[in-house]
Amino acid sequence: MKIALIAHDRKKDLMVKMTTAYKHILENHELFATGTTGLRIEEATGLPVHRFKSGPLGGDQQIGAMISEDNLDMVIFLRDPLAAQPHEPDVTALIRLSDVYEIPLATNIGSAEILIRGLDAGFADFREIIHENDNRPISI
Ligand code: PGA
Repeated sequence: MKIALIAHDRKKDLMVKMTTAYKHILENHELFATGTTGLRIEEATGLPVHRFKSGPLGGDQQIGAMISEDNLDMVIFLRDPLAAQPHEPDVTALIRLSDVYEIPLATNIGSAEILIRGLDAGFADFREIIHENDNRPISI
């Protein structure tokens, strides 16, 4: 599966811990990330990560474009709910697109761990069950 990983600055250490702890699962998937997050993950885990631009410079929108092209299966976005982001509209747009295309999205470590463990258990293929005969979003 193609998985996007994004972490705001104060959540980057947590993202590194999470990807290190679940390296044995994540190494079986294709990873994408915004620039700085991806670099931190690569350095810490040695996992290959396709890195987009940094979030404030358009990285969130690049990941959104992948979603709109039906080219991404999961988003783990460790947001900082206590700090204003200069690119807040991009953050909102990415979350919205995940909902439009019904992509599993985690915005905190609690839900992220459940999604990653779901990957290991094969649960994350649920979209294919729902859209067995039609893999477009239901609302389109
Ligand atoms: P970064 O971007 O990984 O390049 O820091 C994340 C973000 O702030 O959206």
